[in-house]
Amino acid sequence: MIPPGETIGILGGGQLGRMIALAAAQLGYRCHVFAPEQDSIAADVCAGFTQGTYDDTAALAAFASQCAVVTYEFENVAAAPLAAMAPYAPLHPPARALEVAQDRVNEKSFVEHLGGRPAPWAMVDSPADLAAAIARIGAPGILKTRRDGYDGKGQWRIASAEQAATLDLPQVPLIYEGFVTFFGEFSVILVRGTDGAIAFWDSAHNKHDSGILARSTVPAPAEIVAQVPEARALAGKVADALDYVGVLTLEFFATDAGPVFNEMAPRVHNSGHWTIEGALTSQFENHIRAICGLPLGATDLAAKGVVMDNLIGDAAHDWPGILSDPANHLHLYGKAAARPGRKMGHVTRLAL
Ligand code: AMP
Repeated sequence: MIPPGETIGILGGGQLGRMIALAAAQLGYRCHVFAPEQDSIAADVCAGFTQGTYDDTAALAAFASQCAVVTYEFENVAAAPLAAMAPYAPLHPPARALEVAQDRVNEKSFVEHLGGRPAPWAMVDSPADLAAAIARIGAPGILKTRRDGYDGKGQWRIASAEQAATLDLPQVPLIYEGFVTFFGEFSVILVRGTDGAIAFWDSAHNKHDSGILARSTVPAPAEIVAQVPEARALAGKVADALDYVGVLTLEFFATDAGPVFNEMAPRVHNSGHWTIEGALTSQFENHIRAICGLPLGATDLAAKGVVMDNLIGDAAHDWPGILSDPANHLHLYGKAAARPGRKMGHVTRLAL
């Protein structure tokens, strides 16, 4: 067990790290951020900050030697250099979770092996591969980069084989996925402790706009809730297979044929931000409890319902209007510039 007062290392310097650090502070921990950027909105609320690249093994080792445990808020970090931290501090969740989740082919294969069902998919490294993938899977579909994609970045809708033939493919490993006809999207967020105990939060109904999460609503409509048990069973298997410690998220499409796995994130997730006010224990607090070996907090709903809206780009400029409703819980991440598509904050409302 890592007692309050110790230092928790966080790889990654964004809003997830910031909210992890705020929860850690509430429990009496100090946090130390390791991130490549000079200005980190996570480091702004932490006791320590190391600016370094994720492949700098000497810097990672020096960072870990100042921490009792290290976690990450960002999954696009190469796993191998992180081994340099092992002599100094444990890494939770494990590096294996990064390797699985940061590559769409790895995550789909991993989940299929455990009995999960993703959209039909094929690896694409050339125009010929893409033509073969469309011939087998059909169109429409979505071409995605295998790595480094987030918030709909690195994705191209493919309407037909003819359209695909006109594309100038990026020179990175790709994956083609059949287009899933779904009636809703939802996420399963769980926390797994060092003893293997698992707790789930209610699944949010997630609405995306241009590939970016716009709104999460809890409880989800009944037809989505009906698919949650099967999705939870898969998420639990993924967590057990990885001997996972911390918060894990799996995203699903709700379809007439049941839940279709979309992707996983080995971390706290935007679709769980509602848990800060809307659950008895937030995803951030339980992540800290799990990685420090503390007992987990209850994940029950703290209200009849919860709605979380992301503030993307300029939407954050309306903070005076948002605050004019005393029922709104406003979270701003402290980012300097409100670029289009950038997550600047979120607002949570409870139905009591
Ligand atoms: P992703 O980054 O893979 O989660 O994709 C972002 C969003 O694009 C998803 O939340 C869906 O709304 C949509 N999307 C991604 N993949 C598919 C698919 N195979 N079929 C239908 N919609 C998809």
